[in-house]
Amino acid sequence: MDKDKRTEIGTLGEFGLIDKISENVQLKHASSLKGIGDDAAVLAPTDLLRVVTTDMLLEGVHFDLSYTPLKHLGFKAVAVNVSDVAAMNAVPTQVTISLGLSNRFSLEAVEELYEGINLAAIHYNLDLVGGDTTASRSGLIIGVTAIGEARKEEISYRSGAKVNDIICATGDLGGAFMGLQVLEREKQVFLSDHKMQPQLEKYSYITGRQLRPDARMDIIHEFRDLHLVPTSMMDISDGLASELFHISRASGVGVAIYEDKLPIDKQTYDTALEFNMDPITCVLNGGEDYELLFTIDQKDFGLLEKHPDIHFIGHVTAQKDGKVLITKSGAAVPLNAQGWQHF
Ligand SMILES: [Mg+2]
Repeated sequence: MDKDKRTEIGTLGEFGLIDKISENVQLKHASSLKGIGDDAAVLAPTDLLRVVTTDMLLEGVHFDLSYTPLKHLGFKAVAVNVSDVAAMNAVPTQVTISLGLSNRFSLEAVEELYEGINLAAIHYNLDLVGGDTTASRSGLIIGVTAIGEARKEEISYRSGAKVNDIICATGDLGGAFMGLQVLEREKQVFLSDHKMQPQLEKYSYITGRQLRPDARMDIIHEFRDLHLVPTSMMDISDGLASELFHISRASGVGVAIYEDKLPIDKQTYDTALEFNMDPITCVLNGGEDYELLFTIDQKDFGLLEKHPDIHFIGHVTAQKDGKVLITKSGAAVPLNAQGWQHF
């Protein structure tokens, strides 16, 4: 793309923009009968259950365009919705995108955003079947709706955790939150002195976790292959502690997690110390990692025991035993006393 080229969206009109957007769209799923180009998309029934999820990203609330490349943002907008489909143990099939655009955005900027959206559609094997664009007076707004499918017996609800189930988490946690701290710090440095270039190389893993998260569909496909259905599952978007509270409440159980089992990357750990933050607090309360938190029946432990990217962080207890973190010294600390109100 020619970086200096700027085509005003107004010169294309709405139809011109829709033509541009739908130019590269190919429908891959048999259930997508009709995508972009009529009043509504048409989906064929299948013998599977459908899950539907929607999420809205607002400039200034969920993202800052001063350090977020539009291509990454397009990918992320889709990925966070796919993550919610994954959290139901379902496989995404269709997606719609709605944009609120101010006249700050040129056609080239919208194309860059769609480059990321289309990359995500390919990566997650999704059909882009519709959407809307409208004028916004208050910055960029991206609304995404994702549809997925699963067999009835495959769906994992938050409410299915049972006493003695094993609590599992994928990947590592707290990285996206620490990445955001680095990006915000470098932005402030740049704003105070424009000659200062951001120093981001040493933080590339955690800034990547913030700017370009990947929904864990790989894990969902592995569950399929293993014929394993988690007894409960959520994606970790608001922080591990918060998601544990949701599962605990929906399932009517308690949880015990172990400090020394919590997965944290070295870069996250080192950066937390650099910012005078407690790394464990970042793991428990840092959001936007888009990893999966799930519980399994003990009989299924052997299926995942050797998995390199699944961590067994605790177990489900009776509701009366509460929600606790077992520290390295063996003390049981109530999870709601970890001081996450600091952020
Ligand atoms: Mg979720």
